[in-house]
Amino acid sequence: NLSLRLRTVAAYVHREAVMADIGSDHAYLPCYLILEHQVVYAIAGEVNEGPYQSALREVQAANLQNKISVRKGDGLDILSQNEADVITICGMGGQLISSILEKGKTKLEGVKRLVLQPNVGSDAVRKWLIKENWVLVHEEIIKEDGKIYEVLVADSDKMEQPYSEKEELELLLGPFLMKEKNKAFVEKWKGELHQWEKILQQMELSESPDLTERKASLQKRIDSVKEELNL
Ligand code: SAM
Repeated sequence: NLSLRLRTVAAYVHREAVMADIGSDHAYLPCYLILEHQVVYAIAGEVNEGPYQSALREVQAANLQNKISVRKGDGLDILSQNEADVITICGMGGQLISSILEKGKTKLEGVKRLVLQPNVGSDAVRKWLIKENWVLVHEEIIKEDGKIYEVLVADSDKMEQPYSEKEELELLLGPFLMKEKNKAFVEKWKGELHQWEKILQQMELSESPDLTERKASLQKRIDSVKEELNL
């Protein structure tokens, strides 16, 4: 049974697509998409030997070798030009996701959609998407087993970015998530606020003048998130 987190990602993979899951570990997502007949072909990429072996085992156990290609290699290196319509990268930090995309840029030609699930640092992903003219089209935030996850969906063939004059805050919170403000969203940012306030208190105790700027910017961030949450 696929986790709610990966089912949320799966929901944004086009029907009949060829998909590539980068950092696939057990290849649960490709296996699910093939078994559900949602995609016609899948590629599971893994850079590390252990997870690569897990992916091979899982695909063999399900007898899906003719529908899922398991490949060992770094990021998008494992793809040929114009091979995949949709790329998923899940369960990593936003910085790592962005660096995988940046390094593999040339392989993104012809890719229609990216479905990205950063565990932390989704602002880095949003910034990279803007820089490379990918348009954010959907966002989800969910809670599963006490953890909160974000899913970002971006298309290459759209024109209009979803950002307004509040772009700085939207990059942090997510322009769609900010509008919806569901339970998981409020819980996540209340938790972050709590952490930031603790950090600020620690900074207040220090007299160090080189903290002045950092304190001010953290205070500004706290104030703007609080205002957005009506706290
Ligand atoms: N995507 C799966 C999920 O969401 O359940 C697995 C997430 S797991 C925490 C992250 C996986 O990414 C690990 O198996 C790791 O080996 C792989 N990984 C990290 N950096 C990678 C890279 N540059 N290229 C391919 N795989 C990578």
